[in-house]
Amino acid sequence: GPDAGDVLTLDDLAVHFGGIKAVDGITLGLARGRISGILGPNGSGKSTLLGAITRLTPLTRGTLRFEGRDYSRVRPEAVARLGIGRTFQTVRLLEDLTVRENVQLGHDLIAGARPWWRRPGKADRETADAAVATALERTGLAGKEALRPGQLSYGLQRRVEIARAIVMSPKLLLLDEPTAGMNRFEREEIGELMADLRAEGLTQLIVEHDVQMMVDVCDHLFAMNSGRLIASGTPSDVVRDPAVREAYLGR
Ligand code: ADP
Ligand code: MG
Repeated sequence: GPDAGDVLTLDDLAVHFGGIKAVDGITLGLARGRISGILGPNGSGKSTLLGAITRLTPLTRGTLRFEGRDYSRVRPEAVARLGIGRTFQTVRLLEDLTVRENVQLGHDLIAGARPWWRRPGKADRETADAAVATALERTGLAGKEALRPGQLSYGLQRRVEIARAIVMSPKLLLLDEPTAGMNRFEREEIGELMADLRAEGLTQLIVEHDVQMMVDVCDHLFAMNSGRLIASGTPSDVVRDPAVREAYLGR
């Protein structure tokens, strides 16, 4: 269960859409500096849970705490500034912008932390350029800055999204199916990138369909089915859990 050292804690979180209980009473904590994963069959509520954590999806009940602070009622625009970054299940890049400009957008989101009366000056632009360059470097996109998303492989487009999230220097990074549609080589590369980010101390929560990938990259696994948590533990324990196997394979 949740503990004082956790970066994020969810207490009895629920998101209902009319009669559909997409998320139905989830209580959990994410350990600092670790990669946690959420397993679960299609429709089990994983994306809805990420939507709730980022405040894009209104809560039916429950509490969200980040670094011990209740943020259950903050506006979605404020979540990035708290230190929570995310990528989406489907690629959401602006096709008419370059790789650099797409990543710059992520930085602009938190640059709003500047007092409203201060115009962005040369120092602000230099800070932004340096942050964007670092994010591109860390995600292996150096040299691709001037290209447009359509000129990149799918795997590289997903990296641009990760760069756009980490340029905000988040304390928590949420990844919704980052390897969907990727080949084995691209998947391994994303796994390595996540391990590099963990080595730098970044806490991550990943939602994935690919159980093998989850076992390989995660320190801790949660399993969901029908909006509820059905298992929590080490990857090897969770994949051996009969309830998890039943949720995936049916009976
Ligand atoms: P997963 O990401 O695990 O595949 P989702 O969180 O996308 O699952 O969906 C969980 C359940 O909630 C599904 O039954 C889905 O149809 C339903 N759902 C998700 N979003 C909405 C919405 N905006 N309105 C109504 N039902 C939704
Ligand atoms: Mg999903």
